[in-house]
Amino acid sequence: MSDGLEEHGRGTALVVLTPGGLALARRLAPRLPRARVHVSGRLQGMPADVRFTDLGCHVRDLFAGGTAIVGVCAAAILVRALAPLLADKDREPPVIALAEDGSHAIPLLGGHRGANRLALRIAEATGGAAAITTGGDVRLGVALDDPPAGWKVENPKAAKTVAAALLADKPVRLDVEAGDPGWLSAAKARWDTRASLAVRVSDRSGVPSEGELVLRPPTLAVGVGCERGTEPDELAGLVGRVLDAAGLARASVAVVASIELKADEPAVHAVAADLGAPARFFDAHRLEAETPRLENPSALVFAEVGCHGVAEAAALAAAGPDAKLVVAKTKAKRATCAVARAVAIDAGAVGRPRGRLWVVGTGPGAPAYRAPEADRVLGHATDVVGYGPYIDLLGPAARGLRQHAFALGEEQERCRKALELAAAGGAVVLVSSGDPGVFAMAALVFELLDGAGDKAWRRVGIEVVPGISAMQLAAARAGAPLGHDFCAISLSDLLTPWEDIERRLIAAAEGDFVIALYNPASRLRRGPLTAARDILAARRPADTPVVIARNLARGDESVEVVPMHAFDVSRVDMLTVVIVGNRRTRALRRGGRCWVYTPRGYATAAAGDDP
Ligand code: SAH
Repeated sequence: MSDGLEEHGRGTALVVLTPGGLALARRLAPRLPRARVHVSGRLQGMPADVRFTDLGCHVRDLFAGGTAIVGVCAAAILVRALAPLLADKDREPPVIALAEDGSHAIPLLGGHRGANRLALRIAEATGGAAAITTGGDVRLGVALDDPPAGWKVENPKAAKTVAAALLADKPVRLDVEAGDPGWLSAAKARWDTRASLAVRVSDRSGVPSEGELVLRPPTLAVGVGCERGTEPDELAGLVGRVLDAAGLARASVAVVASIELKADEPAVHAVAADLGAPARFFDAHRLEAETPRLENPSALVFAEVGCHGVAEAAALAAAGPDAKLVVAKTKAKRATCAVARAVAIDAGAVGRPRGRLWVVGTGPGAPAYRAPEADRVLGHATDVVGYGPYIDLLGPAARGLRQHAFALGEEQERCRKALELAAAGGAVVLVSSGDPGVFAMAALVFELLDGAGDKAWRRVGIEVVPGISAMQLAAARAGAPLGHDFCAISLSDLLTPWEDIERRLIAAAEGDFVIALYNPASRLRRGPLTAARDILAARRPADTPVVIARNLARGDESVEVVPMHAFDVSRVDMLTVVIVGNRRTRALRRGGRCWVYTPRGYATAAAGDDP
């Protein structure tokens, strides 16, 4: 059984606030998986791997990024900091409170997701105690309802009865029909073949009997093939019939395997999701190596896809060299299925998953303005691709990922790299600042897919994760200037002819839209902004509010509101977004500051429409 700690790809953060805590953390760090010491900025001059200013924000960022947290501080500090974020116990990283003198390590969250094991490891190093609070698993040595990766529990309710019996030192039977039950030998149990209560380890289908806990080891690989566009129901029906006829348990299916050409076939993924097993893919060359073990090699299949069988070969390739084909190729109208069986199948280690590309918006700057969904997908990624400073903005959320940083201007290179990595089976995040669909990378990804790119790109699963765009944060800072119809115009004439930009500016001004100006100017490109200001000034009242928002959520943020007649274009650079109000936009002094809003028209509607 893997000890589970290394599974936390994001490593461990030892978070310290005091000199005593720092000394303890330094001693522990070399003994914990990929541990780094995070030190409060209040401890000036003390060595640190990472520094933070606000403990609450920092701990929340680490948590959202999936990093295991060991806080050398009061448990309550961690509880209060993380309380608003607790949502999904199956995804969240382990969190441990550690007393500054090392006497107690308390797993607060994720006991069965590594926190108990991490606390035990810390206690071993400090000579202190791990305050384990989850059920009887420590006394028992194993958690029967939380078996190793790949295993499933057929009837979790029975786990309590059986564990209670074992804890009370009552005898329990252990029946092993399949799989490698090695991890159960860690249980401090009195196994007795005559006992009536039982743990059965089996991949045979059938309903558990009274007093029997059935554990399903990952022993089966289902190989599938199908024509393009096969209905998911047809393939699922075939797989279900095949497993039932062979008396095999669905929960023991460790993997659904096929040929790489099928990596984007919805039916294959639907069947895998149905069975709760990952889908993995092999190239034709790898499948061809299985030909000597096939029961139904086919020259026809070879002519079509370059290997003598798909379903049988994929099942065998996934189940490994010692596997047996337990169900040979079985056909439905448009699909085939075969099953191979082995002692233990580690699905994560065979073939490749379908490549994934998430085009993610990081928001304007600080992580507080980034969607939790962005952090969630970063937690699943293997690679992150983007403009270097935007990757840096991700901070701890990008740690542990392979980073591919590109320079400004290398937009196509970034997209190609991201697609290539994903086509090779990677789980890739391509980052954009703000929203990835607003003057950013998402459109370019689809443009490349629409063109004559690599064929393997087409099989990549793509998702776009939105972010807060610069105009949204600028608007929020200023009040509500986008309260009525608005548009966004990029003033960059690198890709768009100036005549088009000019035409849109005039049309937007005449349509009385509120206008957000992106890419307003760079050091050398000043002309378009001056021209835009002149176009808008000629069509708007001189006191129209203009919002000049610079470096939003990035440290030295500034937001200014000026009337149109005082709009000084020299105050605008590449890191600025400008919002120009429409004829109704108003500036309002309240609470010692200036707000800008564009009325939605309630006042006039009330007066006019409702006599
Ligand atoms: N996808 C981004 C826009 C990229 S275009 C988004 O949705 O925000 C780059 C332009 O966006 C910059 O020239 C600037 O006009 C604006 N911008 C991006 N981030 C900004 C920030 N933090 N503060 C102010 N403007 C920003």
